[in-house]
Amino acid sequence: MKHPLIKLSQTQIDNIKLLNKDSRIKFNKISCLNCGSENHMNLFTNDRYGFNITKVLCNKCGFMFTNPMLTLNSAAFFYNTNLYRNMLHPRGVIHSSEADYMKESPSFNFIKSLDLKYQTVCDVGSGIGNGVRLFKSIGKEACGYEPSKLFTDLGKKRGLNIINGSADDVKGEYDLVLMDHVLEHLINPKKTIENLRKNVKKYLFIGVPASEDKFQSFQYSHAYYFSINTLCQIITKCGFKRINIKHESRSVNDYLSVLFEKIDEKEIYSYDYTHEVKKYKKIYYKYFIKSFIKKIIRDILKKINPNVEKKIVKIIDLSTLGY
Ligand SMILES: [Zn+2]
Repeated sequence: MKHPLIKLSQTQIDNIKLLNKDSRIKFNKISCLNCGSENHMNLFTNDRYGFNITKVLCNKCGFMFTNPMLTLNSAAFFYNTNLYRNMLHPRGVIHSSEADYMKESPSFNFIKSLDLKYQTVCDVGSGIGNGVRLFKSIGKEACGYEPSKLFTDLGKKRGLNIINGSADDVKGEYDLVLMDHVLEHLINPKKTIENLRKNVKKYLFIGVPASEDKFQSFQYSHAYYFSINTLCQIITKCGFKRINIKHESRSVNDYLSVLFEKIDEKEIYSYDYTHEVKKYKKIYYKYFIKSFIKKIIRDILKKINPNVEKKIVKIIDLSTLGY
């Protein structure tokens, strides 16, 4: 099924046309990162910008992700192009990150509320350093790793310890390692967490957009679409134990903050696969039926009066997806 598009500027439309034709962007069929199954159901065949990628639901465990997935080389190319960033931030990437810099951070507030004992902090995917700034403000030793050279330099200019690099480049051990809005972008988040485990002394914080009672907005920069169950199962398989969780329902994407503790023994988080699959299929079919009815109503109204059709369509929205 086609995914609804958000309102796009002409520049964004032109950029997407270029991306859709770009032969340097290559994809690989993958099996489910959580359960290994190759039995997937196609949900959508384009993202919210009109980029031709497919989002699937694993028929065995209910995990949702893009499949075929960008190859590692293509992902590196993709994330380094201006096209990618200009699509997400039509007003300019510097403008949007500077606006974010002094914002309140839900993940920082969540960690602060837990009364944990820690001193050293590493924020992986720190951006220009809002998280690093906040942890420093409460007396912690904080540094960040940021793959974008531009963001790294902007952070350094603010006197923060930001290192240009990704999760795989992290050196040293930290009481608390954070990955806030990072995991969903990675091509193999499980492998990244397994590697990063050596850098975690006590705690690992993961913040991701979540799908609980609705689908997340489908966008090319998100490779994986976690629920509480799929996130917790994947992370605990890497040698961590879930110790605290906060789920916030929001109008577009829900937000999930989870604190894990590093453990030596394996403790697998389990959930009911069948129930998970059923839950998301129900959301999907409900949305499918709504779209179908909407199309019929539009076709009839268009024939009667196109102006009335526009007004009515605004009223009958497709809120099942949450936007
Ligand atoms: Zn699966």
